[in-house]
Amino acid sequence: MQHIETLCLQAGYAPGNGEPRQIPIVQSTTFKYDTSEDMGKLFDLEASGYFYSRLQNPTCDHVAAKICALEGGTAAMLTSSGQAATFYAVFNIASCGDHVVSSSSIYGGTYNLFAVTMKKMGIEFTFVSPDCSEEELNAAFRPNTKAVFGETIANPALTVLDIEKFAKAAHDHGVPLIVDNTFATPILCRPLQWGADIVTHSTTKYMDGHASAVGGAIVDGGKFDWMAHADKFPGLTTPDDSYHGIVYAEKFGQGGAYITKATAQLMRDFGSTPSPQSAFLLNLGLESLHVRMERHCENAQAIAQFLQQHPKIEWVRYSGLPGDPYYATAQKYLPKGSCGVVSFGVKGGRKAAETFMKHLQLGAIATHVADARTCCLHPASSTHRQMNDQELLAAGVSADLVRLSVGLENKEDLIADLAQALEQV
Ligand SMILES: *Cc1c(COP(=O)(O)O)cnc(C)c1O
Repeated sequence: MQHIETLCLQAGYAPGNGEPRQIPIVQSTTFKYDTSEDMGKLFDLEASGYFYSRLQNPTCDHVAAKICALEGGTAAMLTSSGQAATFYAVFNIASCGDHVVSSSSIYGGTYNLFAVTMKKMGIEFTFVSPDCSEEELNAAFRPNTKAVFGETIANPALTVLDIEKFAKAAHDHGVPLIVDNTFATPILCRPLQWGADIVTHSTTKYMDGHASAVGGAIVDGGKFDWMAHADKFPGLTTPDDSYHGIVYAEKFGQGGAYITKATAQLMRDFGSTPSPQSAFLLNLGLESLHVRMERHCENAQAIAQFLQQHPKIEWVRYSGLPGDPYYATAQKYLPKGSCGVVSFGVKGGRKAAETFMKHLQLGAIATHVADARTCCLHPASSTHRQMNDQELLAAGVSADLVRLSVGLENKEDLIADLAQALEQV
C-alpha cells in the first residue's frame, strides 16, 4: 500500500486523459438520464450513479474516497458537519429502545447530542470513564446495547482512548466500536488498525485545517460482521421496505452495507449533505494534512514544555509530555505526535484564565480548534457551559481549563506571545 503522505495527495480521484487535474466541483442538484428505466434502477439501488445531490454528489464522493483511503476503510461518506457524522454513525445502528456505551470524555456537542437529544429519541447512553477498568466497562453493557463510542484524543479533555480495550469490550458484546478521530487525524492514528470498526470526523478541524468549511465524515472499516449479530442489527440484516426489500448486509456485503444504509436512508431522510464547494475546500486541506500535522505537533510539544516550567501555570495536559497521565497510551497510539491542542490551568483559576486570554495577541479567542492559526478557548464558559460542575469533572474539563489550539506560526513567536500574556496575570 502507498504511504499516507501519497494518499493525502492522490487518493480518491484519478483524472483520465485530458480531464481536470483538480477535483471538479459538480455544482448541480440533479443529474439527467435518457430513460425513466435508467433512473429507476438508481432509486432501487440496483445500479450505482447520481440522481440527486442530497444523496450523493461526485465531488463529495471523491473526497470521501480519499478520507476512506487515509483511514484504511472500505466505504465512506461526507456529511454537512461533524455533528451530523456522529448522529448518523450511531443512529444508523441504534434506534428507539436501544442503548449505547460511550466514553464520558468527549466533545461537548457530542455529549449534548447523546445525553439530551438522542435520549429524547429513545436511545439511552451510559457514560464510562476512558480510564475505567475492563470490569467497569463490561458492566456498562445491556442486552440492548448496539455500539460503543469514544474519541481518540478527546476534545477538550485531551484524554487518549485505549482503543484496544474499548474494541475488545465492544466485540465481546457483539457490537462495533465507533471512534471519533477528529483530533488525531489518520496521520497520527488510524483507529481501524487498532480494532475500531467505524471512524467519524469533524472535518471542520485539522482535515480542512484553515477554518474554511464545516463538515464531517464517516468511514466503515468493513470488519464488523453484521450477519453474525443479525438479531442486534435488524436495520442491516432484514429487508428494507423502502427499497423493495433489499437486505443491506447481503446486497452490499460487510464492507459496504453500513455506509450504503446511512446514505440511502439517513441522507435521504435527514439530508445533512455537504455542498460540493465545501467538499472541494476540504480536499485542499487534505492535500497538506500530513505536512501540517507534523508542524502542529512540533509547535504544541514546544509550547507544552514551555508552559510546564512556567511559574504562573498550575498544570499542563498534553499527552506528548513525559509525566502526562496519557503519555504511555499516546506513545502506543500516537507515536508521531499528540496533535496541536494543549490544555492548561492558569494559577488563579477562572479569572486568571480570562485575563491571560484577553492579553494574547497572536492567539485569537475563537470557538474553534485545530486550524492553521493559533486560537484559544475557555470551555467552561463556552462549549461546555450547559454542564454542571460534576458533569464538567466527568468530561475532564475543570473550570480553569484553557484550551490552546497551536497553529502553524513560528513557535518562538507563539511562546513570546504566551509569555507576555502570562506577565499580565
Ligand atoms: C468539533 C467536533 C465535533 C463536531 O463537529 P462539527 O463539525 O462542529 O459539527 C465532533 N467531535 C469532535 C471531537 C470535535 O472536535
